[in-house]
Amino acid sequence: MTPATTGRPSPPTVTATETHCPYCSLQCGMRLEGRRTTTVQPWAEFPVNEGGLCRKGWTATGLLGHRERLTTPLVRDRATGAWSAVSWDGALDLVAQRLRAVQAAHGPDGVAVFGGGGLTNEKAYSLGKLARVALGTSQVDYNGRWCMSSAASASTRALGIDRGLPFPLVDVEHADVVVLVGSNLAETMPPAARHLDRCRENGGRVVVVDPRRTPTADRADLLLQPVPGGDLALALGVLHLLVAGGHVDEEYVATRTVGWESVREAVAAWWPERVERVTGVAADEVRALADLLAAGERVVVLTARGAEQHAQGSDTVLAWIDVALALGMPGKPYAGYGCLTGQGNGQGGREHGQKADQLPGYRLIDDPAARAHVAAVWGVEPDSLPGRGRSAYELLEALGTEDGPRALLVHGSNIVVSAPHATRVQERLESLDLLVVCDLVMSETAALADVVLPVTQWAEETGTMTNLEGRVVLRQAHRPAPDGVRSDLEVIAGLAERMGSPVPFSADPEEVFDELGRASAGGRADYAGITYDRIRAEHGVFWPCPSADHPGTPRLFADSFPTPDGRARFHTVEHRGPAEAPCGDYPLHLTTGRVLAQYQSGAQTRRVRDLPDDGAFAELHPLLAARIGVADGMAVRVTTRRGSLRVPARVVTTIRPDTVFVPFHWLGVNRLVNDALDPASRMPEFKVCAARVEAG
Ligand code: SF4
Repeated sequence: MTPATTGRPSPPTVTATETHCPYCSLQCGMRLEGRRTTTVQPWAEFPVNEGGLCRKGWTATGLLGHRERLTTPLVRDRATGAWSAVSWDGALDLVAQRLRAVQAAHGPDGVAVFGGGGLTNEKAYSLGKLARVALGTSQVDYNGRWCMSSAASASTRALGIDRGLPFPLVDVEHADVVVLVGSNLAETMPPAARHLDRCRENGGRVVVVDPRRTPTADRADLLLQPVPGGDLALALGVLHLLVAGGHVDEEYVATRTVGWESVREAVAAWWPERVERVTGVAADEVRALADLLAAGERVVVLTARGAEQHAQGSDTVLAWIDVALALGMPGKPYAGYGCLTGQGNGQGGREHGQKADQLPGYRLIDDPAARAHVAAVWGVEPDSLPGRGRSAYELLEALGTEDGPRALLVHGSNIVVSAPHATRVQERLESLDLLVVCDLVMSETAALADVVLPVTQWAEETGTMTNLEGRVVLRQAHRPAPDGVRSDLEVIAGLAERMGSPVPFSADPEEVFDELGRASAGGRADYAGITYDRIRAEHGVFWPCPSADHPGTPRLFADSFPTPDGRARFHTVEHRGPAEAPCGDYPLHLTTGRVLAQYQSGAQTRRVRDLPDDGAFAELHPLLAARIGVADGMAVRVTTRRGSLRVPARVVTTIRPDTVFVPFHWLGVNRLVNDALDPASRMPEFKVCAARVEAG
């Protein structure tokens, strides 16, 4: 199959292309200029970032034409470890033949598919369809499960829908109070920080809740530094004070919500001094936050990974949604609850079918009506679609086991760096009969594969992304891909054909998007009225957008919530604390996070020459450093029940003395973190486990 027959998009003939950054969920608009040497220019009219970019965005072209770029399919000889270049037909034929052999021996679920939150909507949709239609496997999930599934689960239960922000980001400029729980927005998505600054210029107040005093906290009016895992108890304490002070919006609660009374009773036990004992946040600071919220007419509560990547992450988000509901905020202009998504298409990636439990349009795979609708669009029988599969980490844990998949296809994910308890995940990958990885470069995961397929990247392909606001944007191809490289859509179509798919798969992104729109029609994430032309003309279109004459939905919940009775749900939740409490052998909390210059597993950004790559480090408070006899820059050994990591120490006053922080962009720290899962979202507890630190 050649690119011509699969309809690879031709890059536009104009010299400048309006497109979007390859990295995070802000999906900043940018212009690309020049073909052979491509430069990034501001796109000031795009409203989310108004021409501003962080250094990752300004240097994003550094991976185009990179010397480590893969340009031919590679097959590895397991006995010698040697790689051989093969033709595309040879590689796809080999993969299909090996997949058929695995399925003949182990059944359809012997093959699994693992996607990514950076894939375009079209790729995520096609990957889910490949799994269900061409491979007939239920074993499909993606790394977004590790990103924001706790917020997704909580939002769906409480508000009836999972869209990161239910309003455009610019709305926070007009809020009286913005509370950021577990978000280091100034480093993870710096252009978004301008909206916080304008909020303060307009007289609003910004509150940051984070165990570290981050650059985001430096621009805040109030910083609360709870112990990792303390965010839920803090929310309960805030609710206690709002009730005690008579600041609950009783009319809103009575007319727009259900479930408040049991929450009111439960929070009676969370007086500020108890919150202080559990979280380490002084009782007066808890009162200061409650006072700010009580005085605010328009309050925005935002959570991010710091609050969500816990074994009690869903409950933590539910507790903060309870706060927003008690104040009567969701649905009010310039107010409400939202989640700051992480990966570039963390939002769209979970809406169109690459999750184990979902079909396109945010439909549940075990809903008979949803199965019938999607099967009709795909041209197959509903009964032919498999049921619910394993969630991401459970899928990886099952690889190579007696009941688990024996072959894995990976698109857009560097699992051995990004998965929790990564040593065990690597062992599971090595136990497979077949590992196939599609990537731009030889990532740590690709290096373990039997077959590596080189694929196009952002500026070489067209496709849609859905940013943290639910705004569907269009990444447009600007320059041709290197010879020998194919798009993921071409790979999926080629494999589907070779696996004897009963229906054809298009590799043309606009055709795939049109089909995605039909498959999503009537679902929660309804894209039926969105087209590439509309996105170009309107700076993106907010879903739901059910028809061509629908304006899209920038703001949700003004009149009702998408629940059976139109009301939001309060949830009574209990603080449980981290799955691993500190003890004599492991007396500290280990928490992880990001740095400004790197993105996710670093497979891309670590290769961009103009981005600093200082490697991993451990942030320690001076009191802790003195106790273990370590000075700034000296090596320390961070040890948990799962392993140990040697990194240089950074001695800083910005972290709690009982906590150590290590960024996760490099191979290592995710081998240490706990794989305890949130019972509702199946999110692993990346953000806290028990650890010790020694000079070393
Ligand atoms: Fe790219 Fe995110 Fe930086 Fe914007 S904030 S330039 S989308 S990495």
